[in-house]
Amino acid sequence: MGEEKKTLKDMYDSQMKQFFEFVESMKKSLGVPMFPDMKSGRAQYLDQREITLKFIISIENIKDFFNALAEGKLLATKCENCNEIYFPPQRDCPKCKASGLGWIELSREGELVTFTQINVKPYSFSHYDDYIVGIVRLPEGVNVTAWIREKDPTKLKPGMKMRLEIVKREPEDYYTYEWVPVS
Ligand SMILES: [Zn+2]
Repeated sequence: MGEEKKTLKDMYDSQMKQFFEFVESMKKSLGVPMFPDMKSGRAQYLDQREITLKFIISIENIKDFFNALAEGKLLATKCENCNEIYFPPQRDCPKCKASGLGWIELSREGELVTFTQINVKPYSFSHYDDYIVGIVRLPEGVNVTAWIREKDPTKLKPGMKMRLEIVKREPEDYYTYEWVPVS
């Protein structure tokens, strides 16, 4: 309490600072910017030129999904023509080619189909602890992939009941959804 909340940028900055100090020290001793990968120990080379990427994705067709998420609802689209349900939502039906599909709210409980623990993370996820991702089948017949709020994979097994919760992802501070085992 009373402590300033660390922003995502603070976390990246401190992680990057440590990383660059490490590579600099390796470069000093080896003469080239070569260093071992933290997990595998395999040799890596740091290109000394820098590039910063921010991903911008067009969501105009599915913006209702994000507006609903911020209000605590998980939406899918449903084709009135052939009854197919789509999650992640699609506005055009790949099956019967109908367009402008309408929205439905999904159930919040389903069964765990499978899961995996992510130890080797994509670079843009490197500031998170190891996490578990699972696929849950809903009564509507759609699968929803999301993080599972459980650190210990031995506590999970396919077929168990899972409940979806809409949460704020930290430190990014935006709404997303995750699965919670129902005990
Ligand atoms: Zn259709």
